[in-house]
Amino acid sequence: MSDSRIVVVGSLNLDRTYRMMQLPREGESLHATDHATAPGGKGANQAVAAARLGAAVSLVGAVGSDVAGIELRDAVAAAGVDVAHVRQDPEAPTGEAVIFVDAAGHNLIVVSQGANSTVGERDVIDADIDAGWIISGFEVPDAAVVAAAERAHEIGARFVLNPSPFRALSEALREKVDVLVLNEHELAAATGSAAGTPSDAVLRVAREALRVPLLVVTLGSHGAAAVSRDGVVRTPAVAVTAVDTSGAGDAFTGAFVAHLAAGDSLDEALRRASAVGAYAVTRRGTQRSYPTPADLDTWLS
Ligand code: ADP
Repeated sequence: MSDSRIVVVGSLNLDRTYRMMQLPREGESLHATDHATAPGGKGANQAVAAARLGAAVSLVGAVGSDVAGIELRDAVAAAGVDVAHVRQDPEAPTGEAVIFVDAAGHNLIVVSQGANSTVGERDVIDADIDAGWIISGFEVPDAAVVAAAERAHEIGARFVLNPSPFRALSEALREKVDVLVLNEHELAAATGSAAGTPSDAVLRVAREALRVPLLVVTLGSHGAAAVSRDGVVRTPAVAVTAVDTSGAGDAFTGAFVAHLAAGDSLDEALRRASAVGAYAVTRRGTQRSYPTPADLDTWLS
């Protein structure tokens, strides 16, 4: 087994962002003040975040046989991710997220899964994954996520699940999770706990209720926390003025796993991942806002 290699079984989306003074009401047509397209999708974002930090990363997923698909694959590859197992589906279009943002930063997001919905067990088997870490999430179908978890189990790799967009985990999947990464809203949805920054006691109870070895909770401008049987470790956020918080969680997850895969301690991985998340929110976009170690060091100094 290649201990430090990371494989992400996840999504690739073309993000289309339209900015406008106010969000449209039903039946209304209005002008956007500007629009932009950028590579996105949680799986691709996480893979890019880890690769930028120097990790050896492969992405398993699917795009359509269209121009957007080629562009997405190229963008991820340019960041240093191995895309040999990003399949071009002959029928489904490339996945898209259409994002409307108003002047106050409120947004409306519609995701059309496209080729991401065709990712399945076959893709995971064909990739013949050899890695120390496998990351997956809920922007690809359950069959692919479960196959990724089973492969991790089979080869003794650590399985990291970021169940976003959130839905409850099946028992078969939960029992294969080594690291569960949630944001505050997902924690509230998963445990029925109150929204807001959780106390250490709430985190301990949550981990026991979810029955995972390591629960990591990202807390936006309050940093992040990790809870294991040894207790709770927290890291504060780097104080920044946020410009665009989209993709912060993916930046964090990719960076967190990259540091653990490189042999860093839990404390250090949490601290560095939190800094990567903070860096990402100070810039527009997702993948394009992710730092290299040199970017991060310059920015933090
Ligand atoms: P998600 O994007 O999934 O909602 P979070 O908003 O919790 O995830 O962000 C992930 C990580 O990025 C946080 O744990 C934190 O370290 C960093 N981060 C996010 N927002 C901010 C912010 N406003 N200031 C500083 N760091 C932030």
